Amino acid sequence: MNSSSKITVSSPNLKYTEDFIYSDYDYEETLVTKTEHELVAKPYHTSLKIRTGRKVGKVGVMLVGWGGNNGSTFTAAVLANRHQLSWNTKNGQMNPNWYGSITQASTVRLGLDEKGSDVYVTMSQLLPMVHPDDLVIDGWDISPMNLADAMVRAKVIDYDLQQKLRKQMLTMKPRPAIYDPDFIAANQADRAVNLIRGTRYEQYLQIRADIKDCRDRHKLDKVIVLWTANTERFCEVVSGVHDSSDNLEKALRQNNSEISPSTIFALAAIDEGCCYINGSPQNTIVQGVVERAEKNGVFVAGDDFKSGQTKLKSVLVDFLVSAGLKPVSIVSYNHLGNNDGKNLSAPRQFRSKEITKSNVVDDMVESNPLLYKPGEKPDHVVVIKYVPYVGDSKRAMDEYTSEILLHGTNTIAVHNTCEDSLLAVPLILDLVLLAELFSRVAFRRDERQEWSGMHAVLSPLAYLLKAPLVPPGAPVVNALFKQRACAENILRACLALPPAHHMQLEHKVP
Ligand code: NAD
Repeated sequence: MNSSSKITVSSPNLKYTEDFIYSDYDYEETLVTKTEHELVAKPYHTSLKIRTGRKVGKVGVMLVGWGGNNGSTFTAAVLANRHQLSWNTKNGQMNPNWYGSITQASTVRLGLDEKGSDVYVTMSQLLPMVHPDDLVIDGWDISPMNLADAMVRAKVIDYDLQQKLRKQMLTMKPRPAIYDPDFIAANQADRAVNLIRGTRYEQYLQIRADIKDCRDRHKLDKVIVLWTANTERFCEVVSGVHDSSDNLEKALRQNNSEISPSTIFALAAIDEGCCYINGSPQNTIVQGVVERAEKNGVFVAGDDFKSGQTKLKSVLVDFLVSAGLKPVSIVSYNHLGNNDGKNLSAPRQFRSKEITKSNVVDDMVESNPLLYKPGEKPDHVVVIKYVPYVGDSKRAMDEYTSEILLHGTNTIAVHNTCEDSLLAVPLILDLVLLAELFSRVAFRRDERQEWSGMHAVLSPLAYLLKAPLVPPGAPVVNALFKQRACAENILRACLALPPAHHMQLEHKVP
């Protein structure tokens, strides 16, 4: 595999112009109708035209919570890769990489060669994507600490690499942010000194001004705003406040106390034409935010990065249920010692995390009515404890108990040391790169129709998110490999390539 090779698709269904890639795509599905005695499955296909913009432009990412562990580690990783910095550790000299990023470090099977062997390419080779080295990084934090000191505070990056990055990161200072002590834990108060004062509406205007400033200063074509700040408590969704774009606007202007800081960031981003991604569990993206995004033709995506324990859970439970085994008890303990853990030690913020962690097996359970009666679920308990000593090296211990043949029991116990920020940062990169790519993808059914983008709730990013938001009425998919197949096959569809089916009939049929 040559990771820098250009890919050209030679197909009557694909056309390249200077600005676009046009794909004529046959989307195939099977319609199942139920009668009293049978299920009738009828294959059908829908003809789609897919257009992907080839001009990537200059892209900025603005992180809310820039000075946190994820924000400082993301910045360090981009700079280390951009400048190809090597550093020494007790294990020898290290070079930067993007391990953990599906766009940069994972491969997809493009097809097979003349000898029948698989040909793999990196996901980023499939379609034009922003190169991580070219990202402009900016952001906000309630703590004024520059990024070099924030990196030291995070205790994630090796000491020698910190020294090499220090000079450049010293000049990076988070913009003042919105702080509402009612939304994050009281134990965060001592770092909240870099603040935008005023009413919620004034704060919203300031965030818009910050985005404009960043865009103008760096001459950016696109800005993506991503929340990697502390987990907030859920806002209490009130009808007449959160349920429409207009009501939210009214409530914002009236300084309504149930409009969370994260929702203010989301509104400001959307009104500046930016995609907004929520990397934490809280319910920022209320109905009114979705409506606003739809009106402005931008994406929202969330919630909560799927980095460690949940990622494994969405593989293991899928494996168990699809093997015909019945998980009956799933118990997850976590202890972590970073500032995220400190914030989550407060009950209302823990509750937000508990909610996103709890629903992650529902789709797999519901997929098998032989094992589970309607409404039946495994016992599923999540515990999180703050243990400062372990810092960013979160420990996740899970016990999966399943019923097996003739009511025997199978128990799997997993101990997972999740280097939290080193797992989350590649997801931040992928979220930004894929959201940007999908913003250049448009669909129509025939020539008479206008091109239109994907639904404003960008569910193809689900692989990267613990509690994926989906368009109203769409099913939520948590199973990891289904999520990956979805993203990969949409990229293939943009190139008029059939979905990956892994049948390899060339080797099976005489
Ligand atoms: P962190 O506490 O180190 O960083 C969060 C930063 O946000 C802090 O610097 C804080 O000062 C800042 N902040 C808080 N409220 C703010 C506001 N209103 N505006 C701007 N800045 C604000 O935490 P982290 O480890 O970087 O994690 C960040 C978030 O990502 C957390 O909510 C966490 O739950 C979520 N998350 C992390 C992982 C992971 O690291 N593996 C996985 C899933 C979700």
